[in-house]
Amino acid sequence: MKDLEIKEKLKEKFRELFGECENARFFFAPGRVNLIGEHTDYNGGHVFPCALSMGTYACVKKRQDGLFRFYSMNVESAGVITADEDSYKPLEDKQWASYLKGVIWAFQKRGVSFPTGLDLVLYGNIPNGSGLSSSASLEVLMGSILKEMYGLSVSFPEIALIGQYSENNYNGMNCGIMDQFASAMGKKDHAIFLDTATLEFSYAPLVLTDYALIITNTNKKHKLIGSAYNDRRRESEDALKILQKFAEIKTLGDLSDEEFFQLEEKLEDPIIRKRAKHAVLENNRTIAAKKALEEGNYHEFGRLMNLSHVSLRDDYEVSCEESDLLCDTAWSLPYVLGSRMTGGGFGGCTVSLVKRDKIKDFEEELQKVYEPKIGYRCSFYEAEIADGPREL
Ligand code: ADP
Ligand code: MG
Repeated sequence: MKDLEIKEKLKEKFRELFGECENARFFFAPGRVNLIGEHTDYNGGHVFPCALSMGTYACVKKRQDGLFRFYSMNVESAGVITADEDSYKPLEDKQWASYLKGVIWAFQKRGVSFPTGLDLVLYGNIPNGSGLSSSASLEVLMGSILKEMYGLSVSFPEIALIGQYSENNYNGMNCGIMDQFASAMGKKDHAIFLDTATLEFSYAPLVLTDYALIITNTNKKHKLIGSAYNDRRRESEDALKILQKFAEIKTLGDLSDEEFFQLEEKLEDPIIRKRAKHAVLENNRTIAAKKALEEGNYHEFGRLMNLSHVSLRDDYEVSCEESDLLCDTAWSLPYVLGSRMTGGGFGGCTVSLVKRDKIKDFEEELQKVYEPKIGYRCSFYEAEIADGPREL
């Protein structure tokens, strides 16, 4: 669906639920796909995501009183969710709208008050819970809406930080900064190379001509990502604490591969050692991948993507049968340069660099193997690398 059609759809729903939508404003924030640098963002390493043309849209209008009312066309069963002053309950609020409320709450904690609230109807076209960061797109969308509707002087990197803060402290998901930053700072035809320790970033051109970036959704339903994610964070912190006794480092992202191999025996617990190995090597792979992309060396970029998947599978242990099968199959195809799981793991999507004139063959080959073995189909999207948040 095009922007214009989505706008019409939102308007119609807004009128039905909240009345007249003259003077309503429309906003969009993108989802993202991470090319490489997975589970490095809370380890002080680098990430390399890009914003997608898929994202979340909203139709918004100010109210006269202080209420906020939310409705999602993707979760119609939840109906209209109304938030008054007393309904902000960090870590207890478990409805879809808690991603929006968390951002309002985070702004309030910074001393920003909203004497009048908003009516908001929302529609998203990112598959939820698939590692393409629909949650971050909700947070960045809400941050952009508050910025524009109330004239707040807040920058987009700050909106990303507020989104992360709210996801950590309101929604109880201990995520790093990558998802919100990628959504807030997206740039068409560019990947974002971000040092998560300093928030220094640069853009690397990624113009997809001969090759396309294909996202394959495992469509796996039941995932236990929240608890495993928080476990991995703790394990990485444990590793850092031990290594800090032997090296002057602030984060695992400070170590070169060689330095890590010299120190690794200090990590006696084999699980902790594997987690740290991934965090260090994945960070250095990400730095190498950016260089490869700048040099136009897509073969090297693809090779690093494959190594990243192996490390996520064997050392960080966040992959799953479905993603492994998709990658194994992709690796066997001569027109695929690289393929890896993307996002937090345990399902979600893979991302592959595929020769453009072979996209159809790629999809057929993967489906042919996937469906009989897994019992349901995977689905495909061609990634269109797009800009960050905008008003429509
Ligand atoms: P991801 O961010 O990888 O898509 P998460 O589990 O972090 O997965 O976030 C998905 C959740 O975000 C959904 O379960 C839902 O609560 C919320 N969400 C995302 N998009 C929408 C939407 N368009 N409408 C309502 N809720 C949404
Ligand atoms: Mg998320």
